[in-house]
Amino acid sequence: MNDQLPMLTAAETARAAFASLLGGGAEPGSFIGGALVAGQGASLTLTDPATGETLAQYRDAGATLVDEAARLATEAQVAWMKLSASARGQKLWAWGEAIDAHAPTLARLESATTGKPIRDCTAEVLRVGEMLRYWAGWTDKIHGEVIPVPSGHLVYTRHEPLGVVLAITPWNAPLFTAGWNVAPALACGNAVLLKPSEVTPLSALAFAKLAEEAGLPRGLVQVLVGDGPSTGAAAVAHEKVRKITFVGSPEGGAAVAALAARHGKACVLELGGKSANIVFEDADLDAAVKGAQAAIFAGCGQSCVAGSRLLVARPLHDRFVSMVAAGASQIRVGLPLDPATEMGPIATQRQFARVTGLVAEGLAEGAQLAAGGAAPLNLPQAGNWLSPTILAGIDNAARAAQEEIFGPVLVTMPFDDEADAVRLANATRFGLAAAVWTRDVGRAHRMAAAVRAGTFWVNGYRTIHVSVPFGGFGASGHGRSSGLAAIAEYTAPKAVWVETAAEPRVAFGYGAPKA
Ligand code: NAD
Repeated sequence: MNDQLPMLTAAETARAAFASLLGGGAEPGSFIGGALVAGQGASLTLTDPATGETLAQYRDAGATLVDEAARLATEAQVAWMKLSASARGQKLWAWGEAIDAHAPTLARLESATTGKPIRDCTAEVLRVGEMLRYWAGWTDKIHGEVIPVPSGHLVYTRHEPLGVVLAITPWNAPLFTAGWNVAPALACGNAVLLKPSEVTPLSALAFAKLAEEAGLPRGLVQVLVGDGPSTGAAAVAHEKVRKITFVGSPEGGAAVAALAARHGKACVLELGGKSANIVFEDADLDAAVKGAQAAIFAGCGQSCVAGSRLLVARPLHDRFVSMVAAGASQIRVGLPLDPATEMGPIATQRQFARVTGLVAEGLAEGAQLAAGGAAPLNLPQAGNWLSPTILAGIDNAARAAQEEIFGPVLVTMPFDDEADAVRLANATRFGLAAAVWTRDVGRAHRMAAAVRAGTFWVNGYRTIHVSVPFGGFGASGHGRSSGLAAIAEYTAPKAVWVETAAEPRVAFGYGAPKA
């Protein structure tokens, strides 16, 4: 593979990076049994979010390919478990090294297809290598326990892999999310079918190809490309798929969970958010302003943990919002592949329409436009551009304050005191993340306890790590697919009872307790 490619248009970059990673002449298709296989369903078109130009076309996988992939995954999982635990770890580690070695090309592919700045994509790719190495270290440390039951039995548990796990992922951080969900599932001994978003499937194909090159058994990581209700649903329902991790919208998650329930399967749901970023008057204001900007405008606001509701102590509200607005106007919005770009376009036209529609609604609902609201000048007109936008002084009941906008749009509102801040922070159906900015240590901990969120930051925002449990409350989902908590999601404990008594007492049901 060649990582030294010149600067090209997004379409050329995507094609060159794809050819470099998957082989010259390779056409996008599902990655099944070590090869790219053309789908049998509808034709889908990938579009450059920055210019509106066509990037690539491919066919939806469809149920027949899902069936073939599930069969191969089942075989590969058996082969995976025949390896020693440490050999599995070494292979995951080698895959992480391969990701690092190809990081520049992977980042270009990701940037060209998602519209995310190349600097962000490079950082995310390197995090994927880190995730694989983290989970590589766990393969030989997942073990059961001995339980002192009151009969004469030796009882021990084995943490068994589930078999084939399906990971369904969204478009906002495709490789990062793939690594986040695939690595723990494999470390726990499973095979994975990955169903990336239909609008950003290409980097997942390269990810799986590199797995095979790193020595993971063929078929252990396969990628099904296509739409959710067609290919995704067929995979959820497939009898060989034992568990689903779904990362995406609350609506998509509800559809997947309902279908999975009909087939008696469990899901981890990592869904959206409307996270509160809470600023008290005693905060380090410069740090809080920078934090508030990064919380919402990084990734063009297309981040599940985006700090999209800014709650500020009433006496500070207007001044603080002006400071954030001044900073927002300095953010370099530009073409994703330009190394200087800090914020790119919105990833799809559909999402652009949703974001701009909610901005218009917010203004109609009485918010003041403190920044942005329109496309920046000098960028391609057909792209999905919106400057960092701030809707100030919104009512928390307004739709723009309650719906996940998933774009570069911050809504702000004042609060009166600590209790009011907690009330407003929790007045949402979501519960993914939140933050507080204050120098009062006691208050920081009180807020951490009172705000309903799976992740809470004190004087910071956006940091997450593969070693730390991450997930939501309420409409933000349930289950945790990172940190130690993930092991419980991707394994099932099996209890083994061994009779050790010289004169066993045969009993139906529960054995009689020892005298
Ligand atoms: P989406 O729900 O439209 O799609 C996500 C994935 O689900 C895609 O692969 C899609 O094809 C698939 N899908 C959709 N409907 C399906 C169905 N009926 N059956 C099977 N598969 C189906 O979400 P999106 O628009 O791609 O992503 C944006 C959303 O993802 C936002 O709400 C964001 O907050 C959320 N997100 C959450 C996290 C998290 O960890 N909590 C991380 C990133 C993104």
